[in-house]
Amino acid sequence: MKPILALLPLLAACSGIGLSSDFETGSAGAWEQVGPDTITVKVPGQADVDGRNRQVSWYHFQVADDRERRGPLVFIMTDLVGEYDYRPGAIAITDDTPPLISEDGVVWTHVPGVRFDTQAMALHVPVNARSRRFWLAHVEPYSHSRLEAFLGELKSPDLAVETIGKTVQGRDLRLLTITDRSIDDAGKKSVWLMGRQHAWETGTSFVVEGAVRWLLTDEAKELRKRVVFHVLPMMDPDGVVAGGIRFNRNGYDVNRNWDTCDPADPESRKKMPEIAAAKERLLRSKVDLFLTLHNQERGGWLSGSDEFKELGDRFYRELQEKTSCSLPDKAPRPQGPPPAAGRATVYQWVLRELRKPGFILEQGVAKDAKLGRLPVSADRLRFGAELARTMGKVVE
Ligand SMILES: [Zn+2]
Repeated sequence: MKPILALLPLLAACSGIGLSSDFETGSAGAWEQVGPDTITVKVPGQADVDGRNRQVSWYHFQVADDRERRGPLVFIMTDLVGEYDYRPGAIAITDDTPPLISEDGVVWTHVPGVRFDTQAMALHVPVNARSRRFWLAHVEPYSHSRLEAFLGELKSPDLAVETIGKTVQGRDLRLLTITDRSIDDAGKKSVWLMGRQHAWETGTSFVVEGAVRWLLTDEAKELRKRVVFHVLPMMDPDGVVAGGIRFNRNGYDVNRNWDTCDPADPESRKKMPEIAAAKERLLRSKVDLFLTLHNQERGGWLSGSDEFKELGDRFYRELQEKTSCSLPDKAPRPQGPPPAAGRATVYQWVLRELRKPGFILEQGVAKDAKLGRLPVSADRLRFGAELARTMGKVVE
């Protein structure tokens, strides 16, 4: 009997289902196999420095399916109810936003047939994978390593890549400057593009990559003579690596706190070095047009035009009419009342403190009205090129 008993745990380990998130951008909470083909997975979310505003917008894990008889699986995603801007009850993940699956970590496709249980507030995800190893994620991942590899492969005399500061965990914060270096910058317009303030919003990284690729093409050669493009591609690399959502490693929202963070104050620099570094650079730079990119679950909008109405209307019209970007409103969304102390976003700070045209563009993850389907990374990359062209056009 003894040898057989000793083998039992080993057999169980080899013949069941395993789930891991111990890799870059990975995130999953406690999981349990509750039936032969059913696994429940808690989605951790992320709360801020005060334990508030837990947002549940990200999961990414690998599944090892080592059952002897393999067949369809069902993942039940739970703990999906969070809080947004101090309003409890926020729910981001539903059947509007099905996960993507990859069997090689490269090609990602949406999972069909998901169902949202409104009683249990849980998402049921049926999976019929061919391989024994696969990944599931809320949206297609875009890692910090991918950004660094992308920057490493870029070669152009018109591109400069700088490190403007370090994150909480000591990672480099990148700033790209793209312009024709043989012409003096003095007479050029200055455009700023910011991505990935919120770690889960991977769509913004694909847009940034598409924009940078296009800006370095021959097609953009003339534009580079007249415009300097500044790109802050990833504002929260630590969060991206850790599978975070919207707060830096100290728990500060990277798109709030722009009014109170003081780059000259050591305490500010310690708490939110990402904001401090970008703010310090923006304070001593020319800014003719600034845009921060974001994702939300449903719908899209542009805001920030109140003080620069003509430019905002033109920017909006160009995006709506000449690009693949879906903006269901008729015009830029009004800014609303001034933010409470410590709650200013980057574009509010650009507008109110720098007195320059600052904008935010939100793009949805759910089915896109203009595309008529769920958006994928190829759509974001294409839009990046369209966006760079549009920003160059409207600033001139
Ligand atoms: Zn965001």
